[in-house]
Amino acid sequence: MMRLPPFAYLAPRTVGDAVKYLHDHGADAMLVAGGTDLYPNMKRRQFEPKALVGLRGIRELRGIRGSARDGVSIGATGLLSDVVSRSLMLVHYPAVATAAGLVSSPQLRRMGTIGGNVCVDTRCNYYNQSYSWRKAIGFCMKKDGDVCLVAPGSPRCWAVSSSDTAPALWSLGARVRLVSPDGERVIPVASLFRDDGIEYLAKRGDEILTEILLPPADGWRSTYLKLRRRGSFDFPVLGVAAAVRMDGDVVREARIVLGAVASLPREAARAAEALVGERLQADVIARAADLAASPSKPLDNTDFTHPYRKKMTRVYVARALRRLAGEPEIERSLEDIH
Ligand SMILES: Cc1cc2nc3c(=O)[nH]c(=O)nc-3n(C[C@H](O)[C@H](O)[C@H](O)COP(=O)(O)OP(=O)(O)OC[C@H]3O[C@@H](n4cnc5c(N)ncnc54)[C@H](O)[C@@H]3O)c2cc1C
Ligand code: SF4
Repeated sequence: MMRLPPFAYLAPRTVGDAVKYLHDHGADAMLVAGGTDLYPNMKRRQFEPKALVGLRGIRELRGIRGSARDGVSIGATGLLSDVVSRSLMLVHYPAVATAAGLVSSPQLRRMGTIGGNVCVDTRCNYYNQSYSWRKAIGFCMKKDGDVCLVAPGSPRCWAVSSSDTAPALWSLGARVRLVSPDGERVIPVASLFRDDGIEYLAKRGDEILTEILLPPADGWRSTYLKLRRRGSFDFPVLGVAAAVRMDGDVVREARIVLGAVASLPREAARAAEALVGERLQADVIARAADLAASPSKPLDNTDFTHPYRKKMTRVYVARALRRLAGEPEIERSLEDIH
């Protein structure tokens, strides 16, 4: 049985105290919300913090507030199960509700938070293993070693962004509030991530993500599709978030964001541009799906082969756009692939 290493648990009641504790302990401290990712990672010695700053006791970080007309605020420790079950989210921000509902299993969605999901660690077959497994093959640069076992000779880590909600939030233009001893700032979700498997967040170590802000729904239609081996609880090996705003039956604005194809969620901007001014019909969807496959650059470090995952990007983007066009759901994978 794998055991947690020893650590001090700090239980602030306010964001101010949490910020202070984090600052006081510096690099020795980490934040924990639901702990559904952090604790297993600590058991595998992927993280060895001396202190954890727990966010669950902070009342001001909870809750979903607002309206489709004015925009919505989701507290960082809002449970994924609450994001899924609120009709406000299901009706007006379906990509986010669907993505939250597809994270792992019901038990983990009742513990896991949306803030923890956005900040969840990147993943790699050579890293998400026990300490003894990693030691046996030789550690890699993400923890304890100095080489990349997927791309030897690469100066960087290519671990994969594996959050379900991040691409969905990005596609809807969400922003996040970050609080630190220096004050607070609000940045787009699109600016929160870095293309690096180790330093995958553009937030500072002493910043706490306190709130996710969704803009007014304003006629945006959205959806999220996820590819994984076991539909019951696996991480995504491909996520597709698509959002469109229509003028009648013509697309006025569009965003497509891919998950699990790089170390950060990857926007397929050219694919989205190809939709603007067009009707969501077969030839337009096929062209956008082809364009979306180009920024999808999976490596051979998660489940399924990377050529298959790249091929499925086109298939899933087409399916997502057909869903937004209101077409009935039909499994057309063979037709799509050939
Ligand atoms: C079997 C299994 C299956 C899983 N499947 C999926 C899946 O399909 N999709 C998916 O996306 N995830 C999956 N996960 C990972 C995890 O359960 C979810 O991502 C969950 O939402 C993480 O939220 P949490 O509150 O438990 O985060 P924690 O584990 O508490 O924290 C995760 C990370 O975020 C940081 N953090 C947490 N809150 C904040 C904050 N407010 N500000 C700044 N940093 C913060 C922590 O320091 C830590 O680095 C799975 C996990 C397991 C064990
Ligand atoms: S991509 Fe390379 S450095 Fe990063 S976790 Fe995998 S093996 Fe390690």
